[in-house]
Amino acid sequence: MKAAIIYGPRALRVEEVEVPAIGPEDVLVRVKACGICGSDVHRYLGTRYGQRFTYPLNSGHEYCGDVVKIGANVRNFKVGDRVTLGVDWLGSGSLGAFSEYIRIPKADRRLHKVPEGISHEEGAIIEPLLVALNGFSRAKPRGNEEILILGAGPIGLFILQRCLSEGISKVIVSEISPRRLELARRFGAITVDAKMENLEERIFSMTRMKGVDVTFECAGTPATIRQALSLTKPGGRLCLIAHYAQSAEIDPEAIIGKTLTVYGIGGGDALFEEAISLIVQGKIELKPMISHEFPLQRAREAFELASKGDTSVKVIIKP
Ligand SMILES: [Zn+2]
Repeated sequence: MKAAIIYGPRALRVEEVEVPAIGPEDVLVRVKACGICGSDVHRYLGTRYGQRFTYPLNSGHEYCGDVVKIGANVRNFKVGDRVTLGVDWLGSGSLGAFSEYIRIPKADRRLHKVPEGISHEEGAIIEPLLVALNGFSRAKPRGNEEILILGAGPIGLFILQRCLSEGISKVIVSEISPRRLELARRFGAITVDAKMENLEERIFSMTRMKGVDVTFECAGTPATIRQALSLTKPGGRLCLIAHYAQSAEIDPEAIIGKTLTVYGIGGGDALFEEAISLIVQGKIELKPMISHEFPLQRAREAFELASKGDTSVKVIIKP
């Protein structure tokens, strides 16, 4: 089968490798679509702070595909099921979903079925939706609260959609990419072009100098985490979702002095059923988030595009 192997920062090649063998608890999935996550970009660029990657590696966990083979002890899945999630931790030499086939270990516990009406491409971005829903459910924004989302990548845009679906109308999105700003505006956000406007001035004037009730930091830069701390009002909540390419100096007194509550958000697999129900009800739209699709052969181009982040939203590779 073919797989996109990363040999080091910016060194990616599509190569022929063995189809993974499966054990009695595993299933083999033919991957139909796999989204490039911010964490994949960090592996591709070799940049995530505090983490050293061991190359070569194959990345990819935001996938959707069809079951083609099941282990003898697997009970909940059959050949032909459309599925997502359950990718093993991606260590050195491991195979992720930027491949034609992927082995999902302990499938009964970790794999999820995707309903027929959701396409493979849409199914591939359920995983980042779960992360966004996890952040939303922890910070619990409510009806008339003022919300700030820093960064309108897929996670920020999912949080925006979730807020709006709950009737929270004052959601401010700060972003530098015109394409992402446009999408946020179309969903119904109050947008701030952080390149052209002074975010601090805009927020303080919109909130009568108080700051916002809840901030979601989905950009992952030293500047945005400092903005998050200064623009969240006393007693407010701050949700950290992005990964950082470098360390950031922050003022701990901003947390203590304002008695902020800070949430660190990782995955969100437990919210799968809730995600499907929101999608089926039309409360969350997946399709507008997909800005580009590439065949596996052009994975390098896809990664370069996703690395820039200013002209794309979600880039999907179709092995
Ligand atoms: Zn991800």
